[in-house]
Amino acid sequence: MKFTDFNLNSQLNQAIDSVGYENATPVQTLAIPIILEGKDLVACAQTGTGKTAAYLLPTLNRLMERESNKTRVLILAPTRELAIQIEQNAEVLTYFSDIATAPIYGGKDSSNWDEQRRAINNGADILVATPGRLITHMALGYVDFSQLEVLILDEADKMLDMGFYPDIMNIASSLPETRQTLMFSATMPPKIRELAQKILKDPESISLSISKPAAGIKQQAFTVYDEQKIPLIEHLLKEREVDSMIIFASSKISVDRITRQLKKLNYPVESLHSDKSQEERQEALRAFQNRTYRILVGTDVLSRGIDVDNLSHVLNYDVPSDAEDYVHRVGRTARASATGEAITFINPDDMRKFAGIERLIEQEVPKLPAPEHLGETPEYDPRRGKTGWSGKGSGGGGGSRGGNSGGRSGGGDRGGRSGGGDRGGRSDGGNRSGGSRGPSRYGSQDSRPPRTEGSTENRPPRTEGTAENRPPRAEKPFDPTLNTGAQPPVQDGPPRKRKKKRRGPRGPKPGGENTPPQA
Ligand code: AMP
Repeated sequence: MKFTDFNLNSQLNQAIDSVGYENATPVQTLAIPIILEGKDLVACAQTGTGKTAAYLLPTLNRLMERESNKTRVLILAPTRELAIQIEQNAEVLTYFSDIATAPIYGGKDSSNWDEQRRAINNGADILVATPGRLITHMALGYVDFSQLEVLILDEADKMLDMGFYPDIMNIASSLPETRQTLMFSATMPPKIRELAQKILKDPESISLSISKPAAGIKQQAFTVYDEQKIPLIEHLLKEREVDSMIIFASSKISVDRITRQLKKLNYPVESLHSDKSQEERQEALRAFQNRTYRILVGTDVLSRGIDVDNLSHVLNYDVPSDAEDYVHRVGRTARASATGEAITFINPDDMRKFAGIERLIEQEVPKLPAPEHLGETPEYDPRRGKTGWSGKGSGGGGGSRGGNSGGRSGGGDRGGRSGGGDRGGRSDGGNRSGGSRGPSRYGSQDSRPPRTEGSTENRPPRTEGTAENRPPRAEKPFDPTLNTGAQPPVQDGPPRKRKKKRRGPRGPKPGGENTPPQA
């Protein structure tokens, strides 16, 4: 479907043109008309499907219909990185309008507190916030949501995983009852349905969750002992054409160790995990995106939401405990229909877990022989290793589906509210453009036990939360470069610009109405 078919505002169409989107992705095709009708929506869709533009475009279209000096849209996201990325997407898409957006997030370095307060006081049209930091601002009494029209929850499942349920309920209860609420989630576990029932009204539901990695991702695995992992990375870096690689490890300690070892071997490597300050994380991402470093080592902080384009390789240094994290991790490559390689190292302890992942993704990942100089490697035995959750009852990940499928429950269907987020959706035949991805519904969320290992990254950011939840003591000047780290997800798109909240009549646009944004 072409974007012009949605009859969006001409300023939006101009921005869509300038970012180079031609056809709508399936989630956009399904979600945009529903959102434009003003209905509530539960969407089961993952990062990588184009979900951000799916909710931003119709919401921006609504904002462009009339002017206001109050905040009208609130987007909640689980992490700072995702909040920043969404805000950047919004800035790009509002380039030709006067809509003001502001990211509201916490962290160790709270130098942006004043800037955030100013944006809130000025009534930025769109706030993109992490729940903890927003609650702190709200507690101080100056947040005015009296004119709020749209609440969007992005990666709702992740927010619940991180313990934000009470914060979300608290925030939702402070918003006008008459509003549009949109909830995007990669999975639809019972908790999400419960949340949907509480804060959405008569929602439509669509399902484009990907429980399988995109078809463009060449997945491979090596069975190895731990001590063979670094030599194997070295071998792969020599043998393969690695333009850019993210190495995922389950703990911060392993991230630091791998980084140290690769640095010793003179590889251009940087690391990223939640112990690093916001500034360090942004800097690491920026340096990686600029290819100052070709290799980025990180925990699952990196696996969701972060939009790193043109990544040639993802390497799982260990097998993630949660099969969905596997899909998220490998989904960092082959973004937006490109191709890439995802390599997983499986030690004997991780074999059972990996077998569970294979069942969930309904795919057997080829196990390649390690190079001879590494010595003997362990035999793959799916019964061997720790009893990961994925070994218990992932049950094959539900029905097998070929090709793309997008389910939308028809008008009036309460599937999303009554616990059928992905129930009863008809197959839409997958008219996704340009993508060889095969999104399928996640068949086994219900049987998904809670996360076990590796969850330090996934807990509420309470450690950082002391900072997240109260105003900073030292007030440093706002550093706008903090917000420019991750590149907007466009190749030749408009540059970042910080718009002042419009108070008076519309002024002339920078560079003139029809000046295309510069790359
Ligand atoms: P998301 O799922 O929102 O994280 O988007 C994944 C990537 O797809 C981002 O880099 C987007 O800029 C890109 N994208 C979103 N919509 C489209 C589209 N219609 N055509 C091409 N790329 C898109």
